[in-house]
Parts: sequence; C-alpha cells; structure tokens
Amino acid sequence: MTRKCIVALHQLKFTALSKPNPITELPIMETFYTVQGEGFYSGRAAFFIRVAGCDVGCVWCDVKDSWNANEHEILQVSELVNQVKESGTNFVVITGGEPGMYDLSYLTNQLHTLNVEIAVETSGAYELRGEYDWICLSPKKFKKPLDSVISKAHELKIVVFNKSDIEWAETHSKQVPEHCKLYLQAEWEKKEKMYDLILSYITQNSQWRISVQTHKYLGVD
Ligand code: SF4
Repeated sequence: MTRKCIVALHQLKFTALSKPNPITELPIMETFYTVQGEGFYSGRAAFFIRVAGCDVGCVWCDVKDSWNANEHEILQVSELVNQVKESGTNFVVITGGEPGMYDLSYLTNQLHTLNVEIAVETSGAYELRGEYDWICLSPKKFKKPLDSVISKAHELKIVVFNKSDIEWAETHSKQVPEHCKLYLQAEWEKKEKMYDLILSYITQNSQWRISVQTHKYLGVD
C-alpha cells in the first residue's frame, strides 16, 4: 500500500464501525525528548510525538510543514513506544499537526503500558479517539472545535493574534468544565504587542494565566 493510501485510510472515521482495526502505524513528522515549553505543564520534561496532517489552516501556524501527512514517514506504533521507553520519560505529549484526525486508541493504549502520562494538544476540530490523561484544547477560528472535545478539556489555551481573540477566549471559557485551566498565549510573531494586551487583560481577569513559549526563548524544540 502506498503512503498516500495509508494516510487516507487512517484519516477515515472509524467511529461508524463497531470494532475498528487498531491503527498500528501513523504518519509522524518528528519525535523528540525535551521540555514542555508552554501551558500548564511548562517546564516538565516531555517526549513529544508530532503527528503529521492538519487541515485547520491557521494563517500564523508555525508548523506548516506538518500539514501534508503524505510528506512524512509512516512509523509503527511499536517503534514510537520503543522510543518513549528508551527516553525514560514519564510524560508524553502528542501534538501535530492535528492529532484528532487519527484514531490514537492503540497508540495511547500501548503507551499507557509504560506507565506514562499522556497529554494531547488539539484544536478540537475532530472527535478525540484515544486514552488521554490531559487534554489541552487550543481552538482555532479557522475550523471550530466540537462540543464533545470542549466538554473534556483540562486546559484551554488561546493563541492571541489580535484583540478579537480575547473575545474568542471568553466564549470558550464559558463552555469548558469548571476545573479547566485557562491560558492566553501570544502568537509568536506578534508577541511584543500581544504581551501588553494579555498582561493588561489578566490583571483584570485573574482566572486567566499567561502561557509563554519558553522553549522558543531557550532555543529548543
Ligand atoms: S491547528 Fe495547529 S498545526 Fe493545524 S494549522 Fe493550526 S496551528 Fe498549525
């Protein structure tokens, strides 16, 4: 089967089937062991799995290379699990791309056998399929999040690109569960302007916290 066929097959919605076959291979852009730079787990060592493929289309996306899954290698879940095991980590972050495009039940099930915690970073545009300990929802205006993902979020992280994103943030903060942590994060290229806006907003709305992309200041992935 060609890579294109494999990716297309994996992106099919298996939810309609009562017993879907486990997804044992996935298009992966990169994996790396580093420190989570942003959001609730900022500063914690984490093994990142960046799944390839995203059709959300954020104009300011800083990982546009991830969009086309066909340009990336297909890795076996067993290979990913081995990499995580060898790293010795206790925390895995699955990001993208958009992880929600794939059924990651098998991957997350296998990772959990290593006794690691698993976080996912998602726009919420797709139904989440997998066993996650932490769901970081970062909804985008370009493809709106599903209610089913909003209702499960542990962390709401809004990228602030302009002033109207604060309104977008508030709209979603009213929909997430009460325990959900709320973060405003400046879009990197506009950070000088947006930091001022965010800091001013947070001092008047203390339920929000600022998320700073510390990994970019540190010069790590
Ligand atoms: S959802 Fe994420 S990966 Fe997809 S376009 Fe937006 S920022 Fe980029």
